[in-house]
Amino acid sequence: MDRLKLAVVTTLLASLALLAGSVRLVSAADVTVGTATAQPGQKATGFIQVAAGVDAGTSIPVIVIHGLKPGPELAVVAGSHGTEYASIIALEKLAEAIDPANISGTLIIVPLINLASFAQKVPHLNPVDGKNMNRMYPGKADGTQTERASWAISRQVVDKCDYLIDLHGGDLDENLRRYSYWPRTGKEQLDAASRGMVLAFGLDHIIIQKNQGAAAAGATSISRFAEDSGKPTIIAEAGHAGTTDAADIDALVRGCENVMRHLKMLPGVVTPVEHPVWIGQLTTVRSDQDGIFYPLVVPEAYVQQGMIIGYVTDYFGNKLADVTAPLSGVVTYICSVPSMKKGDTVANIGEIAAAP
Ligand SMILES: [Zn+2]
Repeated sequence: MDRLKLAVVTTLLASLALLAGSVRLVSAADVTVGTATAQPGQKATGFIQVAAGVDAGTSIPVIVIHGLKPGPELAVVAGSHGTEYASIIALEKLAEAIDPANISGTLIIVPLINLASFAQKVPHLNPVDGKNMNRMYPGKADGTQTERASWAISRQVVDKCDYLIDLHGGDLDENLRRYSYWPRTGKEQLDAASRGMVLAFGLDHIIIQKNQGAAAAGATSISRFAEDSGKPTIIAEAGHAGTTDAADIDALVRGCENVMRHLKMLPGVVTPVEHPVWIGQLTTVRSDQDGIFYPLVVPEAYVQQGMIIGYVTDYFGNKLADVTAPLSGVVTYICSVPSMKKGDTVANIGEIAAAP
């Protein structure tokens, strides 16, 4: 090797080392969410701290799984309704199953947003301030606990991630059929990306959410806020009436892993669901009576407009009213407990839609 060649090779090697160094530096950056900091190849746990304000503070658990190889940041959250147990347990299992050595990019898992709901077994709301923890995004730095927690999650999770999955399930009083939501914003690129995710997730009933135009600030769900921020997002629901059936939990864990494969964060091929039942308009049927509720249909029942789907009696067993389907469609969930008061949800019925 002559001197000139040697010089060229040395320079080349030096620039390669420099390049490798800079690439290594980029992928070597720590990822921090709340008090959890993970280096490449590490799994870290910690808390998103919400300081006390007009009411008590809270510490929301977070798991950061940082892959050895670079890739996107996917956030998966659950438990904004703290008694939708199957979705919460699914994220515990997902965090356990994912090995940082095998993934590209970073998985941020927030398995239980609404700790007080979970601890006190209060469905739907945060018992600290009586608010729905999936309706106040992006939240407020100085509001009540739900607003401050939403604010912290907006800044530390939603702003940070590239993609989001929000998991739910039948709450204590909801008998639910597994389904996912595809938020349709009318923004072509965003909709194509979230459509790919929802088909990869694999649930065979998909509700089309019409999310045109920006949502009212401070009064929306985490998924709508994320979509408005340009992050492809899907929602998936499984589980019913406080149960933690293995099949429901598996469906959610497998779904998240399939989305990770679709996003090239995990190796392997995904077979997207081929012929899902697409559901358009979702109609909530409410009770116009206080009393004891008896369902006559199960989730996934196909009902005709006018069909009796349940009835309400007084506390002596006398029938007060039949509840009828206001439209033809598929029952996505129905009230699973006898407690019924005027205005409460009896069922949600979805109209079958053409494949979009
Ligand atoms: Zn929920």
